[in-house]
Amino acid sequence: MERTTIQVGGFEVNCSILSENGKAWIVDPGQEGERIVRLLAEKKLTPAAILLTHAHFDHIGAVPSLQAAFPGLKVYLHENDVEVFTHPMNQLPPEYQPIDKLRGRADAMDLRQVEGLDVEVIETPGHTPGGVCYHFPAAKLLLSGDTLFAGSVGRTDLPGGDMATLMDSLQKLVALPDDTRVVPGHGMETTIVAEKRGNPFLQ
Ligand SMILES: [Zn+2]
Ligand SMILES: [Zn+2]
Repeated sequence: MERTTIQVGGFEVNCSILSENGKAWIVDPGQEGERIVRLLAEKKLTPAAILLTHAHFDHIGAVPSLQAAFPGLKVYLHENDVEVFTHPMNQLPPEYQPIDKLRGRADAMDLRQVEGLDVEVIETPGHTPGGVCYHFPAAKLLLSGDTLFAGSVGRTDLPGGDMATLMDSLQKLVALPDDTRVVPGHGMETTIVAEKRGNPFLQ
């Protein structure tokens, strides 16, 4: 599996494009849909699906433009974040307009059955009710969304957030192999061992 990670939108969301055998999975296309489409073309990749770690506006902004470019493109999202996706408060205009409809949704928890992608979906509520992390054991890679950051964790003061729930979710992540590379939803990459040693929320 190959990975390209770019920062998109004003909130600099880490959008990862995972690919294998010419197929691509686009994780958290927060903004800059045209740039993502260009990147896929450059790499001669056919998108297989969009994977969302959660439904906050800064992670989903390019979903409509990607689905316009690739009709029928599926969006994997946990059911507990479906409401967040189209919620009228889930916006920050002018850059992030609310999205009126969630099209082509598949349940993130079913992703393990998708052929060609060695993935384990970990339920990590706390930042949002339907937050998930995508773990790729063979690639020793974790896409942690806004659950775990280098040296920090996601905020829990937004609607649906809960600190105790987030702390429980983090315990699932510290159980992963130490040498797992972590690509958070924002900011620098890290590893599980570095976070176990240095992240104050994991002590
Ligand atoms: Zn978020
Ligand atoms: Zn975010």
